[in-house]
Amino acid sequence: MIRNLKMTDQEIEDLKLASPGSETSLYCQQCRKCIPQCPYNLDIPAIMRSYMSAYGYRNTQQAFHTLADTGISEKTCEDCSSYNVRCVSGFDIKRKITDIARLRLVPEEFLKA
Ligand code: SF4
Repeated sequence: MIRNLKMTDQEIEDLKLASPGSETSLYCQQCRKCIPQCPYNLDIPAIMRSYMSAYGYRNTQQAFHTLADTGISEKTCEDCSSYNVRCVSGFDIKRKITDIARLRLVPEEFLKA
């Protein structure tokens, strides 16, 4: 019989990562509704997978390769004044892309699988 259902702080943080719409949520639904909204037709769901690999699974090597496959540069979104993409999960897409795009500047040998 389970008696102690009190969650640890780490378990609570992990649940927040999975909550759609939360500020800290990492899990993109891969619905692809954002792609037609982007003036540069970026593969935003793939970029969100890269973000999830880096911050959710701490697999920066996977994140690096997923990001590289999208062909984005480290400056993607930063200077785009026409940016107006809305995410069904409430992600701040521009902020997440600007954040994870920095991985393009890191030499691969520094990354962790
Ligand atoms: S709209 Fe949001 S949840 Fe859907 S694919 Fe794009 S980033 Fe992911």
